[in-house]
Amino acid sequence: MEQPGTTANSRTFTVDQATGFIKGQPTLQRTLSYMKNMFFDQDAVVEMLAKEDTKLYDFYDLGLPATPGDLATGTSIVYPGKVGDEYFMTKGHFHEILDTAEVYYCLSGHGYMLMENPEGEWEVGELLPGNAVYVPGRYAHRSINISPARPLITFFVFRGDAGHDYGSIEKQGFRKMVVEQDGKPAIVDNPRWRRT
Ligand code: ZN
Repeated sequence: MEQPGTTANSRTFTVDQATGFIKGQPTLQRTLSYMKNMFFDQDAVVEMLAKEDTKLYDFYDLGLPATPGDLATGTSIVYPGKVGDEYFMTKGHFHEILDTAEVYYCLSGHGYMLMENPEGEWEVGELLPGNAVYVPGRYAHRSINISPARPLITFFVFRGDAGHDYGSIEKQGFRKMVVEQDGKPAIVDNPRWRRT
């Protein structure tokens, strides 16, 4: 009699809903210095880095095969906080195979998924526990934690060979950004965005 989960090809894994931790996977950490040029308030970046290289997010990737028939899967945990008035967020990326979609399912916290395509159309999806955001192909995407206290935890799935293109976003940024205004999140134009 075989036990569940002992077969060679399937994978059974546990995602901790409160922390996003996936047992047995290394934590991949991203700190402010990794994306210091992407925040609007560069004075705030310098000030924060002088004190500490604050952790903005962690992620776990199951490391499944990168073939068109497999699915890349893992979790992302964006911590609460702001750089100036701008909320902590992930670096954001297009997929290298541009026309490939992704699903983010929110396990915990409160955030936005900011999306934009090369034609300049943009959209925002709300991430709340139980919400899933389907990011269509061709859209760059970034998750943003708008909660003052709780981490934003999402579970993602996309085509295994899609790859990440971070360079385009690093060069030009997103057209929109999410800042706190009067104690509430506001989606505003990003003054640092530039057409390349
Ligand atoms: Zn993606």
